[in-house]
Amino acid sequence: MAERRGGRRHRRAESRSIDDHHSYPPRHDLSNELTALEGASYGRYKSLRGKWWTTDAILHVIKVQSDPFAPPSRVALAFDSEQADLIEDWFATEARRRALAVLLAKRFRAACRTKDLRIDAGGQEILRRSSCEVGADGSVVFRLGAQFPGRGRRIDGRGAARLLCEALPDAADAALSVGEDEAARWTRCADDAEALRRAVAERGLVAFVADGSELPRRSGVDQRPMEGGVPFTSPESMAVRIELPHAGTVRGMGIGPGVTLVVGGGFHGKSTLLRALEAGVWDHIPGDGRELVVADPSAVKIRAEDGRAATGVDVHAFVDHLPSGDDTRHFTTENASGSTSQAASIVESLEAGSRLLLIDEDTAATNLMIRDARMQELVAKDREPLTPLVDLIRSMADDHGVSTVLVMGGSGDYMDVADRVVMMDAYRPEDVTERAKALAAEPTGRVAEADAFTMPRPRVIEPGSVSSEFRGKQKIRAGGTDSLRFGAADVDVRAVEQITDQSMTVGIGLAVEAALRRGWIDGRATVAEALDRLEAALDEGGTAELLEVRNVDLAVPRRHEVAAALNRMRELKVRQSG
Ligand code: ADP
Ligand code: MG
Repeated sequence: MAERRGGRRHRRAESRSIDDHHSYPPRHDLSNELTALEGASYGRYKSLRGKWWTTDAILHVIKVQSDPFAPPSRVALAFDSEQADLIEDWFATEARRRALAVLLAKRFRAACRTKDLRIDAGGQEILRRSSCEVGADGSVVFRLGAQFPGRGRRIDGRGAARLLCEALPDAADAALSVGEDEAARWTRCADDAEALRRAVAERGLVAFVADGSELPRRSGVDQRPMEGGVPFTSPESMAVRIELPHAGTVRGMGIGPGVTLVVGGGFHGKSTLLRALEAGVWDHIPGDGRELVVADPSAVKIRAEDGRAATGVDVHAFVDHLPSGDDTRHFTTENASGSTSQAASIVESLEAGSRLLLIDEDTAATNLMIRDARMQELVAKDREPLTPLVDLIRSMADDHGVSTVLVMGGSGDYMDVADRVVMMDAYRPEDVTERAKALAAEPTGRVAEADAFTMPRPRVIEPGSVSSEFRGKQKIRAGGTDSLRFGAADVDVRAVEQITDQSMTVGIGLAVEAALRRGWIDGRATVAEALDRLEAALDEGGTAELLEVRNVDLAVPRRHEVAAALNRMRELKVRQSG
């Protein structure tokens, strides 16, 4: 194994590490202890719980599996700053620490020679994960699953010693032995993304896509960049130049506020551009191709999702006079239609504070998007409960500061209300705003169906309606990015497309639980206020806030994904305030 700089391997610092807030002093000689347990009944592994000195870190045995076939035990390996021995420059800012932690987790996994150690190394995004964190002082903690080896129902002590006293520290050591070039590549990437987000916000843009960005992915199940794709190039009329600390002057397409329409023939890259914007709320790892693609951090992908539940949502701007006579200011359903589900999602996203909605015709409900002149002629307004988005989208932008980017290759009606129109032509964006405006000057005979959008009335969640308790036990479990089990509730989150991976689904469940426990959802705070409190705590405490609920693999979610999951709980009860 490579010695790291400063020969830090045998230094035994007495300072405390980040996970070390309990009072028992760590024990010594884990290896001997494990050898002594050889052949004992498997349950004796529980005696390992607590902290141990290893050569150059503290090993925390957090949770011990009850048998060899149960999910892996949980361990953490904590290095104080001296033990981790990272270069100070690398952890000088929060953005760098976040990127560095992702790099270390990925290096750990790459170095790991056994499948009995399972670290969550994440995907293409830079998220705050429990699997690795770098402290402001340069300390480092790895948290992972370890499958404690057994022979039948007996302890394989020597195997456990190899796992915990060799493989684990070796992988961590290899991760920490990161070279200066590699670390600098990640920290520079983090600096540039941070500077880019600031510049985009300062210029009042809602999104930016740098020239040279690689937007298409390899496949639906492989998020690495497609090889040989056409790199992005901004049309000159929309080009913005932004100075970044490391990349220098970067040219790219700046998307201003208001209504942005993306048109073009099928298979020309429209949805790919929109998906890059959806992912632009997160930073990306070096080499991803979307390092310099950013969207307003509050951007939410909106889609139709028939069958979803909705509770007390004020959708009257979109849906009124239902044939059933239901009150659409408190729209509650177990089984929304395509259009009403999409209306509910828009309203809920605004309530949660989104100021940029992303909509793709591929996954939108046509009757919520448009109603053309002929259909207006045929079906009188008083027979049609729906007011299409096309008649509300301007007021959303002008009166409420809510921008939209929508992909719409199949209807020209949005040309009337668009601030800019981008045409994707063989993956190359072209600014066709002038031509679209000229076309829109010719009346189609269509009449506007609404003059103003009003923001939904705030709702208050009844805390008792949401609980993680199920048969007396706390139950929070994720099924990939598709479902979240929260107590007795099975929440379908398939349509919440910005959830990146299972660890984020878990993070959402833990965030809801934290919000209940800490009284952020208290029966008085509005949904927005409860989310404000949650967000403040997550900004401040990050993973610690969620690990307190349960020490598992998690990624810290945005308020928007937490809101999306809450809103899809069938048991939810709310009242409108004011
Ligand atoms: P649209 O929404 O316009 O129908 P998509 O965005 O779904 O088109 O893209 C169609 C196909 O083209 C997809 O398989 C996608 O991976 C591929 N693609 C998209 N952008 C590029 C690009 N810049 N270079 C190469 N292939 C691309
Ligand atoms: Mg498409």
